[in-house]
Amino acid sequence: KLFNELQELKGNIRVFCRVRPFLPSQGAPNTVVEYVGDDGELVVTNPTRLGKDGLRQFRFNKVYSPSATQADVFTDIKPLVRSVLDGFNVCIFAYGQTGSGKTYTMTGPDDSSEEDWGVNYRALNDLFKISQSRKGNINYEVGVQMVEIYNEQCVAILFLVCLDLHTLGILSTTSQNGLAVPDASMFPVTSTSDVITLMDIGLQNRAVGSTALNERSSRSHSIVTVHVRGTDTKTGSVLYGNLHLVDLAGSERVDRSEVKGDRLREAQHINKSLSSLGDVIFSLASKSSHIPYRNSKLTQILQSSLGGRAKTLMFVQLNPDATSYSESMSTLKFAERVS
Ligand code: ADP
Ligand code: MG
Repeated sequence: KLFNELQELKGNIRVFCRVRPFLPSQGAPNTVVEYVGDDGELVVTNPTRLGKDGLRQFRFNKVYSPSATQADVFTDIKPLVRSVLDGFNVCIFAYGQTGSGKTYTMTGPDDSSEEDWGVNYRALNDLFKISQSRKGNINYEVGVQMVEIYNEQCVAILFLVCLDLHTLGILSTTSQNGLAVPDASMFPVTSTSDVITLMDIGLQNRAVGSTALNERSSRSHSIVTVHVRGTDTKTGSVLYGNLHLVDLAGSERVDRSEVKGDRLREAQHINKSLSSLGDVIFSLASKSSHIPYRNSKLTQILQSSLGGRAKTLMFVQLNPDATSYSESMSTLKFAERVS
């Protein structure tokens, strides 16, 4: 509802800001978040400047305070997710520096229980349930694809196809570093949790050893795509919709004087793809006639769900700690440009 109400006003791009809570490991909380309003207002304090001078106000379609739950967030985006079953293409992505809660929002914490599942598990669960319960005229087939973009290279992690919602086939996997999925196997699927188990295997696939997972995942973009095909059993007409769920690489600036070689190359690729994404969304928001999709792998892959009739939602993630102030400001400025 929130989405549809606003659609009339501003086209198809929404920005929701989420401030994560302080973690026990962060010590005494020193927050830069001064105010979170019900109407999407956010006020941030500059910790080095006192008084009115140090305050900046932003406005987004919605702002979540640290106490917002995963269920709260999903309630707001459910209509958007469900529009995929009506043939819309939807893109939901999380932007922010490493540690700001992107993965928490999109996937959930490590070893999450159903209660703290993130957007992608909830979305899949919801789409599966609805497509199964809608026994009416439309017969849905759902496919799930996982892809990682690292240094402008796109790596398929897992491709699942769900036929009549009971048989799940893994069409292709990339077997790198001890992958535990047998190639080209078919799995009977009786519940969403089966799908989630397989997605977890896909995610673990990204693990390239101990700290490497977090390290690398913060420098790659991870995209889960849900493909939906609905066939009208009476008329035979077919509709397609897809949902891209994107956990972007960390947006933090890397000091060029401090990194060399591989790290510098990574940083340049991340910079390029995040700024290309910003350019595409900005061009769409400002109704420009030329949309520069071709400038990065990320925008090429997401093209079908950015622009046209597609609906786009960006989660802008913030770590409220004072030490993250300057990164938070650049995140907010990125968001402000496209909202
Ligand atoms: P990112 O993916 O942006 O690097 P993470 O999602 O890994 O950040 O979040 C960093 C840490 O903060 C993790 O330990 C995560 O579980 C925790 N965290 C993030 N958001 C929340 C939240 N809304 N509630 C509780 N813990 C959170
Ligand atoms: Mg992450």
